[in-house]
Amino acid sequence: MRIGLFGGAFDPPHIGHIAVAEAVLRARSLDRVDLLVSAQSPHANGKTNAAPVQHRLAMARLAVEGHAGLGVEDCETERHGKSYTVDTLRALRQAHAGNDYFFIIGADMVADLPNWKEPDHCLQLATFVPVMRPGFTMQVFEGLRLGHQAVQSLRLNLVQAPQLDVSSTRIRQAVASGESIRAWVAPAVESYIRAHRLYV
Ligand code: ATP
Repeated sequence: MRIGLFGGAFDPPHIGHIAVAEAVLRARSLDRVDLLVSAQSPHANGKTNAAPVQHRLAMARLAVEGHAGLGVEDCETERHGKSYTVDTLRALRQAHAGNDYFFIIGADMVADLPNWKEPDHCLQLATFVPVMRPGFTMQVFEGLRLGHQAVQSLRLNLVQAPQLDVSSTRIRQAVASGESIRAWVAPAVESYIRAHRLYV
């Protein structure tokens, strides 16, 4: 099977995530794209997640409901401490030897890729599929501290996905200041946030 993995904190999951997952599902003819919910993101520069992992996982499940071909991968949330993409990809490939993995990353994450644990190995274990995000251009590929071939294949694998100007940070701020978040998250995710008094 051709499986897409979209790694992130999903704190909370929003329409930008879903639009990207659906675009890559179609563009790369994948069987499924799973939101890979992080336990504690090693890529977040020490930012603590505003919602505990069980809430982020529950919201991710609500966010993909009704979207055929989208799912949730919870293998990182069962591990303690930081989870690194290279370890996750190794474990998934070992458990499902027949699968091909496609790892989706937003443009902001591309710039950070050289700082990941074993970035070159990550790029061997999965086909990395970058997507653009408002505020970023193809310049993210310039000067990346990765081999020439790795950078070339990242460029070639870019998928044109809808660029929605939304982020989890903005949504958390909106909840905290009493603004509406209806335009940015699924109704079930909004209800969950309200019911559990997240981000207030
Ligand atoms: P935060 O604001 O808390 O950093 P976020 O909105 O960036 O959150 P994450 O869960 O950190 O969401 O991101 C998961 C993945 O989704 C990352 O690869 C990120 O680049 C990508 N992503 C998030 N929002 C968008 C968007 N609007 N368009 C394209 N990619 C996005």
